[in-house]
Order: sequence, then C-alpha cells, then structure tokens
Amino acid sequence: MRDAVKPGRVSQVGATETAEAVVSARKPYKLVSRDFHPDDSVIQVGPVAFGGDKVIVMSGPCAVESREQLMMTAEFMQRVGVPVMRGGAYKPRTSPYSFQGMRLDGLKMLAEARERYGVLIVTEAVDHESLANVAEWADIVQIGARNMQNFELLKAVGQCGRPVLLKRGMAATIDEWLLAAEYIAAHGNLNIILCERGIRTYETKTRNTLDISAVPVVKQLSHLPVVIDPSHAAGQWQWVLPLARAGVAAGADGLIIETHPNPAEALSDGPQSLNFRHMEELMEEVGRVARAVGRTL
Ligand code: PEP
Ligand code: MN
Repeated sequence: MRDAVKPGRVSQVGATETAEAVVSARKPYKLVSRDFHPDDSVIQVGPVAFGGDKVIVMSGPCAVESREQLMMTAEFMQRVGVPVMRGGAYKPRTSPYSFQGMRLDGLKMLAEARERYGVLIVTEAVDHESLANVAEWADIVQIGARNMQNFELLKAVGQCGRPVLLKRGMAATIDEWLLAAEYIAAHGNLNIILCERGIRTYETKTRNTLDISAVPVVKQLSHLPVVIDPSHAAGQWQWVLPLARAGVAAGADGLIIETHPNPAEALSDGPQSLNFRHMEELMEEVGRVARAVGRTL
C-alpha cells in the first residue's frame, strides 16, 4: 500500500486535475452522460418522440413467423394506437435447434406491414450482415441482450444511420450498459434508446429480474430515454401488465411488449406473449398510470 502514495507524484498533480480524475474514474462514459447533455434527449423517429411527454409503446411478436401473423398484428396495433411494431426477423436463440427467424424475408414482411398499417418497425440485428439489412428495411435497430457487449457490432451500429434500441445484457451492470451505449455514441450515433429487460439473479420463478431501479438510476446518469421490456423480464404473460405499470410509474419513457395473435402457437416466447385482448387491456391500464404520473400514452 505504501507504494500507492508516492510523495513525488502527488506534488505533480494539482487539485483540479485530481478532482477531474476522480470524476472520470467514477463516470467512464462521456457522450451519453448527463454531464455532457443536461436536458433529456428526445429521439425522434418519424412522428414518434422517445423521451418526451408521451410514453411510447412498442409491441408485436417475438419473431416474424408468417405474413398472416404479422398483418393481423399490425392491423391490431394500428387499431389500438400502438405506434411501433416489433418482430424479430433474426433471432438469437439459446438453442441452435430453435426457430432461427425468417431473416430477410421477415424484414420485407415488416416493411410491408409498415406500408399497409402505418406502424414504425423495430427489429433486431445480430451481426454485421443483418445490421445492413435491418438498417435498410426497419426504422429502429434493436441490439439484443446477448450482443450488448459485441463491441465490433456496436461500432458498426454507431455508423448505421438509424436510431437504436439497446437492450441491457442479462449480466451487465448499469455502467457496462452505458459504456455499450457510449460505443455507439462514440462511433457517430447518439440516437439511442436504452431498454431494461431484466437481469439474471438467483430468483428462478421469473425468467429474469426486472431491475426497476435501473430507470431512475440511468435517467439520473444519462440523458437518453429508457424503456422497459416486461415480457423478457417476466417470462410469463400474467406478470407483464403489473411490471409494465411499475415501469411507467418509475418514469420509463416507453415499453416493449410481446404480443401474438395466438400465443399458444408462437414459435418463440409464447408463454410471455400477450394475446390481443390482454394487450388492449394493458394499453388501458398503462394509460391510467401514465396519466397519474403526468404523461400520456
Ligand atoms: C427479443 O426481443 O425477442 C429478445 C431476444 O430480447 P433480449 O435480447 O432482451 O433477450
Ligand atoms: Mn422474445
């Protein structure tokens, strides 16, 4: 320990430099930090503004499975006023034997749904090749929990020219998550929406543990909007609504919810997917919470 206190060195560092070193050691990120941009950032995607007064709801199936499934879903989203539809075309599955997604065909279907029903599209890119395709066909590029620390991909996302939904890794600290955002920002893209989707804890009843505290903590540390994904946190559709309410009450700027016309037949994440009736109920219930905290849906 004695070596750490070297009198010669201390005398070379002035008080201001020491204070700056302490600040930068505490906050390793810069561009995504509140210090850099004290006001909330509002990320405008077409007519939709993330980080403003409105709580933005994104919803749709875990995966694009067929044109029929997708068009039914898009028509429903338009009807109940959900402005952004989700749907994975490239699926990062835990098992190589699970459905891997419709890939480029899926992206084209998402784009067709946008044309027909006026919903914006958020969908995941899993590597450089899919990123180029997603940036061409979708409105928002999703980077999933598993790729949150794929640094080469994050650099490319910085240059992709589209807003990004950056999910928190399932074992990532808030600092690691913000540093992942910093990678994207440092490579040219500050249109980043952060998404808390639950982290791994010792609890096994839920698929992940939704870290509600991440909402106020990240909003204090960063100017970027934060949304909540209660579906991947809960793992069970019955718990999605209460977690969505909690997220909005805690100050989340939006929600991303898995919905399927027939969850029992979903090719991925059926147990956590809401059917249309339950999604409509969620819009009503969450709308009430939003109004209670001075916002709208
Ligand atoms: C998804 O959104 O379907 C998904 C794979 O999410 P996550 O990366 O949060 O697991
Ligand atoms: Mn899913």
